[in-house]
Amino acid sequence: MSDNKGSDGKGRTVGTRGGGTETSRVRQSFSHGRSKSVVVEKKRKRVVVPKPGTAATGGGNAAQVRAAQGGASKGLADSEIERRRRALMAAKATEAERVAKEKEAEERRKAEMDRLREEKEAKERAEAEEAARLKAEAEAKAMQEAEEAKRKADDAARQKAKPRGKKDEAVVSPADIPAPPNENEGPRRSAPGGGAPKRDDRRDDRGGKGRAGGDKRRQGKLTINQALGEGGRQKSLAAMRRRQERQQRKGGGSNEPREKIVRDVQVPDAIMVSELANRMAERVAAVVKALMQNGIMATQNQTIDADTAELIVEEFGHKVVRVSDADVEDVITTVEDTDDDLEGRAPVITIMGHVDHGKTSLLDAIRKTNVVSGEAGGITQHIGAYQITTEEGAKLTFLDTPGHAAFTSMRARGAQVTDIVILVVAADDSVMPQTIEAISHAKAAGVPMIVAINKIDRPGADPQKVRTQLLQHEVIVEEMSGDVLDVEVSAVEGTGLDKLLENITLQAELLELKANPDREASGAVIEAQLDTGRGPVATVLVQNGTLKRGDIFVVGEQWGKVRALINDQGERVDEAGPSVPVEVLGLNGTPEAGDVLNVVPDEGRAREISEYRQQLAKDKRAAAGAATTLDQLLAKAKADEDVSELPIVVKADVQGSAEAIVQAMEKIGNEEVRVRVLHSGVGAITESDVTLAEASGAPIIGFNVRANAPARESANQKGLEIRYYSIIYDLVDDIKAAASGLLSAEVRETFIGYAEIKEVFKVSNVGKVAGCVVTEGVARRSAGVRLLRDNVVIHEGTLKTLKRFKDEVKEVQSGQECGMAFENYEDIRQGDVIEIFETEEVERTL
Ligand code: GDP
Repeated sequence: MSDNKGSDGKGRTVGTRGGGTETSRVRQSFSHGRSKSVVVEKKRKRVVVPKPGTAATGGGNAAQVRAAQGGASKGLADSEIERRRRALMAAKATEAERVAKEKEAEERRKAEMDRLREEKEAKERAEAEEAARLKAEAEAKAMQEAEEAKRKADDAARQKAKPRGKKDEAVVSPADIPAPPNENEGPRRSAPGGGAPKRDDRRDDRGGKGRAGGDKRRQGKLTINQALGEGGRQKSLAAMRRRQERQQRKGGGSNEPREKIVRDVQVPDAIMVSELANRMAERVAAVVKALMQNGIMATQNQTIDADTAELIVEEFGHKVVRVSDADVEDVITTVEDTDDDLEGRAPVITIMGHVDHGKTSLLDAIRKTNVVSGEAGGITQHIGAYQITTEEGAKLTFLDTPGHAAFTSMRARGAQVTDIVILVVAADDSVMPQTIEAISHAKAAGVPMIVAINKIDRPGADPQKVRTQLLQHEVIVEEMSGDVLDVEVSAVEGTGLDKLLENITLQAELLELKANPDREASGAVIEAQLDTGRGPVATVLVQNGTLKRGDIFVVGEQWGKVRALINDQGERVDEAGPSVPVEVLGLNGTPEAGDVLNVVPDEGRAREISEYRQQLAKDKRAAAGAATTLDQLLAKAKADEDVSELPIVVKADVQGSAEAIVQAMEKIGNEEVRVRVLHSGVGAITESDVTLAEASGAPIIGFNVRANAPARESANQKGLEIRYYSIIYDLVDDIKAAASGLLSAEVRETFIGYAEIKEVFKVSNVGKVAGCVVTEGVARRSAGVRLLRDNVVIHEGTLKTLKRFKDEVKEVQSGQECGMAFENYEDIRQGDVIEIFETEEVERTL
């Protein structure tokens, strides 16, 4: 504004050039380094004589000027002079005003700057104070943590738990985690804190030393903190770390015991990580992390032991309540029966003896004497045990599974089923190795024996010789003035059977066998199998109480609800009392012979117990697998290099077959080789079988059963051999050959494919046709086929047709659909699997 005025003035001045004035230029400077030149006029002569009236109104200067000029100047009119003077005055006034304004603005700026600086300083002070406070807090907390860690370390050391080193690290390490963000945080915080002089310092530093590098820059920053007081920066960083750490904890499943509800956490013998988190009401990830910090790598689905769980629970600040998993079994009533509750029960008899001495014949003969079934003309069916009623009305229960292995395996599983053992010895033979074994078994079990001297109808029968021979094995029969009852019988002719039954009744009376029929049932599994139509079926011998339809029970690792009870006559019954054998339907899995059945109050408990037992068995199997390998290593390392072992795992369709195979296998051994059955069971070959077999380098034998898909895959991966058989003799031959090193991976059958039945059609003239999809390999018309239902072989034969669309074809590839019909077999169902195999005659190497 003033500039414009100036230039206006200048224009006017220029306009006065005719007035005899002297002009000069003066440089005028303004604030902010601006300047401009101003024209100054000097008048040489007074031109005008002042009018009397003007002197008073004009300024002193003007009056003097006019006086000085006098009448000398005649060039300019008075009015003109006056106008110019005024203009000059106005210009001066504006200039002064402008300077004043600028001064004022400058002052305002200064004041503003001061205010800002003050503000900044105040803020820095506040921050420094906050930092100091946080640091103090953090230090206190660190100390507390250290103490906590120490305490835990001591505790853990006492418990012989995991190494402590990692624990200590765990306390320290979280502080390191927020470090990277702090790197960024530092400069950001210090920059606004530094006023102008500090910034200068930094610039000087940098400028003076050139590229000073990170350290130098840090030093530069440090000066800021120095301004805030000693160690200000450290305080701030540490505090930041702690603060971030605290925030992290708050956000992500905190470790902070103070903010928590302390819970009583039940810790069983073993617990899944996710379940532990659940019981503590903590996040699973936090628990997994805590485990990791203790050096335990476990996923949420892994199971940890009670000691580890306890450590974690304490770490989270909860209270540990140790419970034993076995407590779940408490629900099984162990109430002792009083004498008043007890009633007499039938004895349970097992027949033992050497092979071919007539055990089966004797069992059959006794069964035929059963007056009840005889009268009713009932068809007896094999369920593993049967009960007869003698002419005198006494009930006797016979176990229909002869053999020492069954007897011993039952005992090993905690089922002492047998009350009386009948030792069969053929009169025309003599005491044989298995007779001696039977004697040992009976004695070990503390079960009384009755000797049945069989085949007395035979010409060479010499009962006396048998009696004498028995003496050598401390079996002193009555005739030799001992207390062991003995009877001469002929199973074939039926002689002496009455006397035998009489003796059994007598012996039973001596035993005073009693049970309480009015309580929840408990019993033992005599036989179990996976029935293709009925699912898992178990023959249970009720030992105490009464088993009723609808009862919920646990049996070994399985549980179930009694859907139906079938007695030895094949009739459906509603209940079974003590010493009654029944087939039980409604199981959720196949138990094993010797498993104990217990009725429990509800399904939840049944499930719980079964899960607990399964876990226990799994652990046991894993341990057994490891032990086997160790045993073998030891065995190999030891001097008896001459005797080698061939371990095998056997799975069969029914318990009977499994037992028979195990027995046959045990017979194979000689001085040099032994076959060792690591595990035998009923049902499909599963992954756990594969694991067990792999641990010992054992082949898996499938007798009329197949491996399920995961097991097959796993076996393929591990290069493990699975052999399938449907004839025991083949199996025995092969194992014999393998055991004596004669058979090296001889392949009898090659599986070339699997097909799944999607639909079953009825076609006139052809019969039932299966609409299939080949799921693996190929289906070949010429190949052999097996029908599998639930991985159990139910038919083996050949194909009548193999059709692709309408055409008869030789081969169908994997993924394609086809129609198949079996030669002479119609029982095919949707969901069944057809196994296609080819047989190859491989020459036996000697
Ligand atoms: P296991 O192996 O002990 O079960 O014996 P078995 O019951 O299978 O009998 C073996 C063989 O002995 C069979 O051929 C029977 O027919 C025969 N046998 C069994 N008991 C008698 C008997 O009392 N008299 C005669 N003569 N033969 C018998």
